Amino acid sequence: ALRVRFAPSPTGSLHLGGLRTALFNFLSAEKSRRASAGSPGAALPPSFILRIEDTDRTRFVPGAGEQLARSLCWSGLVPTEGPGELLVAAREAARQAASSAPLAPETAAPHWPAEPCGPYHQSLRTGLYREHVDRLLESGHAYRCFCTPERLDQMRAWAQAAAAKQGSSQAGLSYDRHCLSLSPEESRRRAQAGEAHTVRLAVPPGKTVINDLVYGRIEIDHAQVDDQILLKSDAYPTYHLANVVDDHHMGITHVLRGEEWLSSTPKHILLYHAFGWTPPRFAHLPLLLDEHRAKLSKRHAAGNVAALEANYLPEAVVNFVAMLGWTPPRSDADPEQHTREVFSLEELVQIFDVRDINRGSAVVSVEKLNWFNRQHILRLAATPEGLRRLADIVLDHLAGAALDGPADAAATTAEHWTRPIPEAPGAAVDREYVLRVVAAIVTDRIALLGDVSSTYRYFFREASPEQVAAIRATLAPAVAATIRHAVLPELARLPDFADEKALSACLKARLPADDPRLPAGAGPLKQKDLLQGLRSLLTGSPAGAPIATVMAVLGKQVAERRLAEC
Ligand code: GLU
Repeated sequence: ALRVRFAPSPTGSLHLGGLRTALFNFLSAEKSRRASAGSPGAALPPSFILRIEDTDRTRFVPGAGEQLARSLCWSGLVPTEGPGELLVAAREAARQAASSAPLAPETAAPHWPAEPCGPYHQSLRTGLYREHVDRLLESGHAYRCFCTPERLDQMRAWAQAAAAKQGSSQAGLSYDRHCLSLSPEESRRRAQAGEAHTVRLAVPPGKTVINDLVYGRIEIDHAQVDDQILLKSDAYPTYHLANVVDDHHMGITHVLRGEEWLSSTPKHILLYHAFGWTPPRFAHLPLLLDEHRAKLSKRHAAGNVAALEANYLPEAVVNFVAMLGWTPPRSDADPEQHTREVFSLEELVQIFDVRDINRGSAVVSVEKLNWFNRQHILRLAATPEGLRRLADIVLDHLAGAALDGPADAAATTAEHWTRPIPEAPGAAVDREYVLRVVAAIVTDRIALLGDVSSTYRYFFREASPEQVAAIRATLAPAVAATIRHAVLPELARLPDFADEKALSACLKARLPADDPRLPAGAGPLKQKDLLQGLRSLLTGSPAGAPIATVMAVLGKQVAERRLAEC
């Protein structure tokens, strides 16, 4: 049974790299759970654990843990184990967002609010770390360090200067092991007297071999490994100690985490051995880069997962991050699979394997993310249930979106949307109306959920008088006369405004060439010019869904009123 964890530090919101780490952990656990279903239970079942690594009190951001858990639930990566109360609230909060990933009925039932290996906040486990530090002190694998911060700063500065002199960007060892030579008696006496100190790992001579599932065999000489601080002077453990102690006690079998932790892995393996434990398997995930091949920052347009909610479907975001550093395996049953890009979370569970993760860094492109979103929007729209979910997401989005445009630029309330829709009276935009809008525009170019309230705002709002005047000024007199005296009378006679074929026929209506209402010498009216004029009046924009579709969705009253502005 595979037990994995996602172990963020609550220092901010979930970033894209974190989501990818969580995803690969989730997929591994879910796959293992399905494979072992029905076989006699191991002591601990397969699980995807959320652990909050909050021992660095200086970087702690209140509310960050809640936000991280919420983003995970929104994405559909619901942990099976973790801080119960936090996860119950996070799932509830994610459910409020219409876009939230629907929970696949297949996925594991969560163990929370029960906490089989809890608590899952490291700040609630300090007693456990303290006990383990004492064990290491007793066995000689660790020692107390009484060096002052000033002395340590100075050594760090020296190490950096020495590295710079050698032209290396990496500082060498920054601690000279000064306190390793203290006798156990002196060390104990000074600690008992209350002298401030830390506890450090006594790195033995030799080397550590890592058999990483992604990077393969890596050998690291201990001469390059610092005597890592395990317990800080504030009595909180460092990441390294707490992480190893918890991974062991939570029965973690595989550690999948960012490549930036690879250089810490020898320290972790040394700790496992010092305690007499078997280390888990390690898989380090390649770095994420931005379009300029710099390390992806949280400020990147796709960097912050919570900020993506406004414009993207969770299945698109998840699919996008899955393809960052992972390639679908070859399959005899499905020769296309290896080169395919669009997958649902369920499909990913079935074909994911850690061994298919690549070593090369992956480049994050917003353009590519938009492409994935478009693909998943089309996928959703292909079924009636999917289309309904899409409409609900759009509805949710409209309720919170500000309208761009000069008339009510600051308007954010739902009432502003209802004004132009006589078919949808009342305070809220009509759900059925939104469904018709979405069905009409989905085959057009919609890629971002926000497009609905910007590019397609004409479905929800009237143009301002100034905009109408501007549109009217662009209409050729012959076009205006044709709309007013030929097209509108045809439309008025239509028995069924929802019949797009009949609507299209009306758009072909013309006045006789000698009609006195046509400007003298206008010549024959071009179909293209008429359609362009109709489109401007109806939508205020030159492109979009077919005119008859737009009219059918807007409905008789609104469409005729807008055309009468000619
Ligand atoms: N707390 C660490 C982080 O924020 C966890 C690293 C690990 O998974 O070991 O990334």
